[in-house]
Amino acid sequence: MPILPLDDQLISQIAAGEVVERPASIVKELVENSLDAGAAHIEVEVEQGGLRRIVVDDDGDGIAPSELPMAVARHATSKISSLSQLEAVASLGFRGEALASIASVAELTVASCGPGAEHGWAVSPGRHDDARPAPQNRGTRVEVRELFARIPARRKFLRAPATELRHLRRAFNQLALSRFDIGFVLRHDGVELARLAPAADTAARLARVVRVLGKSFDEHAVAVDEAAAGLRLTGWVATPGFSRGQADLQYSYVNARPIRDRVFNHAVRLAYRDLLHNQRHPAYVLYLEVDPRQVDVNAHPAKAEVRFRQSRLVHDFVFRSVGRALAAVEATPHPARHV
Ligand code: ADP
Ligand code: MG
Repeated sequence: MPILPLDDQLISQIAAGEVVERPASIVKELVENSLDAGAAHIEVEVEQGGLRRIVVDDDGDGIAPSELPMAVARHATSKISSLSQLEAVASLGFRGEALASIASVAELTVASCGPGAEHGWAVSPGRHDDARPAPQNRGTRVEVRELFARIPARRKFLRAPATELRHLRRAFNQLALSRFDIGFVLRHDGVELARLAPAADTAARLARVVRVLGKSFDEHAVAVDEAAAGLRLTGWVATPGFSRGQADLQYSYVNARPIRDRVFNHAVRLAYRDLLHNQRHPAYVLYLEVDPRQVDVNAHPAKAEVRFRQSRLVHDFVFRSVGRALAAVEATPHPARHV
């Protein structure tokens, strides 16, 4: 075969393989967009584990009608425009490929009532590329239908709705614990699975954490609040009595971005070394704040992994902070629980 450039649609479908793995990844990308748009309230509605339909509706800034076609174009973003902005990026998105990727593997409709619009407008890439009037009177509503319907090879990797829903709830929970100031609702097949009101004080925050991690986390939660060397760690770790057979109740954040990081996880795990049996996993919800220039968030297409410039420093700080919190519980029967 001769060497030829890939066509645009195919490039998007290939890129989508990295961004859109399953319904949960779509929920993650869409809720991230709502958060970046300054939404105060975000509703997620799904059918059949998200396989049939996913809707994310927010009350954020919206998209101007003239910009709607650009919002769904590949590598188009309103969040950064230079390398120096990428190096200190504060928004969750910056790659400009989520909506375009989703549109290449599913039926997408974006309806928004943006700046300067008197009513809502909508686009459905590939079907209605030009904006048309829509009944959206504030914020943005994104609807995704028939995921991978046109791509049988990808559809084969999807699991039963119950399994997809489990992944999706995990993604939802991860984002719901990233911003306590925002209200979140999750509905599945018409049933409300979660309604989380904005949490103003630390007691309300812990209440949200307990709603997500389960009632018994409440009795075992130990507050962490440590700062050193330009780093700050807050949140809660469970006493060893709440250990789990799997590592499913571990939520970690860097600058309010949900992350999965081996350095971070290892540091926490090490702090439990003498308290937990090898096969048991600790439960925790931890927030690391660090100078954005000290962390590279562009290490992974789904933005789930990060790279710390000084990973040794981060590791030791997290290890010591969690260790101190756990040691304090050993010493006192009623540890401080509110940060
Ligand atoms: P990115 O988030 O990396 O910029 P996306 O493909 O996710 O890329 O979104 C493209 C653009 O569409 C965003 O930069 C933003 O301007 C706009 N957008 C997407 N979703 C929303 C939303 N819920 N509210 C307001 N604007 C949005
Ligand atoms: Mg995005």
